[in-house]
Amino acid sequence: MDDQNAKYLIQLHKYHDNPIESLRTFADDYAVPIVDRLTLDLIKQLIRMNNIKNILEIGTAIGYSAMQFASINKDIHVTTIERDDDMILYAKDNIQQFGFNDQITLVEGNALDQFNHVNDKVYDMIFIDAAKAQSKKFFEIYTPLLKNHGLVITDNVLYHGFVSDIGIVRSRNVRQMVKKVQEYNEWLIQQPGYTTNFLNIDDGLAISIKGE
Ligand code: SAH
Ligand code: MG
Repeated sequence: MDDQNAKYLIQLHKYHDNPIESLRTFADDYAVPIVDRLTLDLIKQLIRMNNIKNILEIGTAIGYSAMQFASINKDIHVTTIERDDDMILYAKDNIQQFGFNDQITLVEGNALDQFNHVNDKVYDMIFIDAAKAQSKKFFEIYTPLLKNHGLVITDNVLYHGFVSDIGIVRSRNVRQMVKKVQEYNEWLIQQPGYTTNFLNIDDGLAISIKGE
C-alpha cells in the first residue's frame, strides 16, 4: 500500500486504540519486529469473522500480537511459542500486567521441537511469525493440529521488499533468508489441501485456508 494511504489509515486508529497498543513504542525503540498495525487489524477481523477461538502462534516476542488476539473476546485462547530468553521475560511480564494469564499459554523453546507441548488442542488458526527461513518447517510441523477450514496466517512474506527484488540485497545471510521466503511462497501457493491468498499489505501477508 502507498505510504500516504497507510499513514492516513493508521492515524484513524487514534479513535479506538486499546492499551496494548502502547507496547508499540517499546517495540519500535528496541527494534522488536511486532506485526504492523493494518495487518494486525486484518487478522483480528478474520478472527471475528471466522469465530476463531483457539490460536497457535509461532513467535511471541513481547506478547503484543498474542494479547491483541486475546483482547477480542474472553473465549479466545492463544498458545504461543518463543525461544529467546529476553523475549520470554518481556512477554511474561506484559501478559501478567495486561491481565491475560488465563487466555495465553507461553511455551518456551525452539518451535522446531515443541509439537508435544502444544498438541493438546485442535487449532482454528495458526499464526506463523518467527524465523522467516523456517516458515515451511513450522507449517509442516503444526498444520496437522489445524482444523478443517482453519486458517494459516504467515507474516512478512514480502520481507522488506526484498522478496520481489532480491537483487538489492547485499548481505549473503539476508539473501539466503530471502530465497527461503521465495521458496516458501511458491511452495505455499501449490500446497494441496490449502487455498492461499497473498496480500500486498505492510510487510506482506499470506492467508491460507485448509480444506476444499
Ligand atoms: N508475533 C510477534 C512478533 C514475533 S517476532 C508480534 O507480532 O507481536 C519473531 C519472534 O520469533 C522473535 O521473538 C524470535 O525470538 C522468535 N523466534 C524465531 N525463531 C524461533 C523459533 N525457531 N522458535 C521459537 N521462537 C522463534
Ligand atoms: Mg511479523
